Amino acid sequence: MKAIQYREVGKGPELVEIEKPEPKAGQIRLKVTAAGLCHSDWFLMNLPKEQYAYGLPLTLGHEGVGVIDKLGEGVEGVDLGDPYAIYGPWGCGLCHTCAQGQENYCPHAAELGITPPGLGAPGAMAEFVIVDDKRHLVPLGDLDPVQTVSLTDAGLTPYHAITAAMHKLTPGSTAVVIGVGGLGHVGVQILRALTQATIIALDITEDKLALAREVGAHHTIISSDGAVEKVRELTNGLGAEAVFDFVGADPTTDMARQMVATNGFIHIVGIGGGTLATGFFSTPFGANVRSPYWGSRSELMEVLELAKAGSLSVHVEKFSIEQAVDAYQKLHKGEIRGRAVIAF
Ligand code: NAD
Ligand code: ZN
Repeated sequence: MKAIQYREVGKGPELVEIEKPEPKAGQIRLKVTAAGLCHSDWFLMNLPKEQYAYGLPLTLGHEGVGVIDKLGEGVEGVDLGDPYAIYGPWGCGLCHTCAQGQENYCPHAAELGITPPGLGAPGAMAEFVIVDDKRHLVPLGDLDPVQTVSLTDAGLTPYHAITAAMHKLTPGSTAVVIGVGGLGHVGVQILRALTQATIIALDITEDKLALAREVGAHHTIISSDGAVEKVRELTNGLGAEAVFDFVGADPTTDMARQMVATNGFIHIVGIGGGTLATGFFSTPFGANVRSPYWGSRSELMEVLELAKAGSLSVHVEKFSIEQAVDAYQKLHKGEIRGRAVIAF
């Protein structure tokens, strides 16, 4: 089967022909209908050899949807041909954290060698993918696979961050979204769907700001030196109740610190290597700083419900698997508007 793999540190993604995988007992094979490209794929492909810990060769793709194609021994309760979205942040499924539905924070996954598809386990950027357990599938229903696949990460991750700050996002409040790419442009829509907050979006190009306005941002600002003052002006000097940083590099985490209101929330979602000093003389009084990871399975169900209700629409740039390597280059250069998706 065709697959997009990262095979050698520093070499970037490659289109390869590999053997079709067979599901072991308890596993499920999906025939992939769509897979999404995420900036996190570039994060890992930019790591030096000493820090790279995802195994090689790695089949990419942690956003995947498909139809059930083959069941491993003992799998019951799901039917061949039915469409599902893959819930990616696999946990042990047994511990207290997993019992609460937060497999994304399972403290045992690493020691047990459990890794998400595309971030350790073979991912969905291939004609077929193995899912380790049926609990990691969420029914897709009538949703279109290409339009929906990115909600498994670019929807779920901002949803998880935003719902944790809901008590701050009352009518009259302000939410700042830094970085209106794959995650950020869905984040703006989730904020619109769930809250009455005024949304201020920041990015580095006018084109990305135009996308932000298209998906519902009330104000847009070029992310540069004057951005903090502009946010302060728009909030009568008070700052924003919640700041969602989908870049997470030092310049943006520092902006987040200066834009957040007293008792506000900063969510550093982007993994741009930035850090934020919190303390009495750094962050405003009472401010919370959090680095959330992906989301829970029940939250993925809720995100898909939002899509079914017509509240979320991913701006998709569609590619074939033969074009995937080029699509990754476009993502690297910041040329994707919304999310790049491989359609099978
Ligand atoms: P993307 O490339 O689609 O979007 C990033 C956006 O940020 C682009 O629009 C870019 O123009 C903009 N940007 C870059 N520098 C900026 C700056 N200084 N100020 C404002 N905007 C700026 O990336 P994505 O796939 O949406 O991922 C966003 C980040 O989230 C990445 O770092 C990714 O690795 C991370 N991520 C984290 C999680 C998690 O669980 N925490 C999950 C998925 C992705
Ligand atoms: Zn991702």
